[in-house]
Amino acid sequence: MIIKRPYVLKTIRKVTPLVSSFVFKAQDNTAIDFVPGMFAMLEYRDHATGESISRAFSIANPPPSNELEFLISLIHGRFTSKLDTAKAGDVYYVSAPYGQFKFDIKSGSKFLFLAGGTGIAPFLSMLRMIDKNNIGIDCRMLYSVRYPEEIINKDELEEMQQRMGVKTVVTVTRAQEGGEWSGEKGHADSAMILRHVSDVRERSSYICGPPAFVKALKDALVSLGVDEKSIHAEMWGE
Ligand SMILES: Cc1cc2nc3c(=O)[nH]c(=O)nc-3n(C[C@H](O)[C@H](O)[C@H](O)COP(=O)(O)OP(=O)(O)OC[C@H]3O[C@@H](n4cnc5c(N)ncnc54)[C@H](O)[C@@H]3O)c2cc1C
Repeated sequence: MIIKRPYVLKTIRKVTPLVSSFVFKAQDNTAIDFVPGMFAMLEYRDHATGESISRAFSIANPPPSNELEFLISLIHGRFTSKLDTAKAGDVYYVSAPYGQFKFDIKSGSKFLFLAGGTGIAPFLSMLRMIDKNNIGIDCRMLYSVRYPEEIINKDELEEMQQRMGVKTVVTVTRAQEGGEWSGEKGHADSAMILRHVSDVRERSSYICGPPAFVKALKDALVSLGVDEKSIHAEMWGE
């Protein structure tokens, strides 16, 4: 049974101009177990008005843990506007874990992660779990952002590439003409996947990002002959 528990906001860290990392710790220190890829329901309660509002957020840290990290795009919506003024020590309510987007390490020996924006969150959970448990893995990641400054945890991704051999290719969809970005540009598609992952058909693929991104990449994988059964997907935002 999934129990809703009070969690204390421990740290807030700006990771890009729009996205912040929020780390919450269970007030009673209970560690929850989950599979990387799963999400939590985070609830804000306004005790003065009795208002309560919940949203789903992918868990970015590895299991099991009495802490949960979320990478949240602060879009000033109903829930995220509450987070604009959140501070360490605030109490939120969390129930977890939920979802069918689960990283199955036994589903193959080679993996392809396709991430768009904050869709990198479940992949960080997966990669951190692999790292924590010292699991050797052949994993490639294609990560799409609008601008270079929107790359979440760039240093950590580079470090994972050096130390764990997890090669991440970033594509910038709104790169400035004549700007400094020298990497891949434009929306990820089948040609871009093939340029970096020639053995795509041998890999289990996981896609997470906005609906249009997920649909386009799923279609691209299928057009490359990838078996639909080996494609796992999660989407949110717009
Ligand atoms: C399984 C799951 C996992 C999720 N994980 C994450 C996560 O790790 N990080 C994260 O930031 N969000 C995540 N979300 C989205 C999150 O649950 C909220 O929908 C989001 O934070 C907006 O909530 P809000 O109340 O602030 O906006 P609302 O008031 O509900 O919406 C305001 C407006 O913004 C639009 N909108 C909603 N989301 C986005 C977006 N991301 N970018 C641009 N416009 C948007 C809505 O369509 C609406 O028009 C996840 C959603 C699901 C279903």
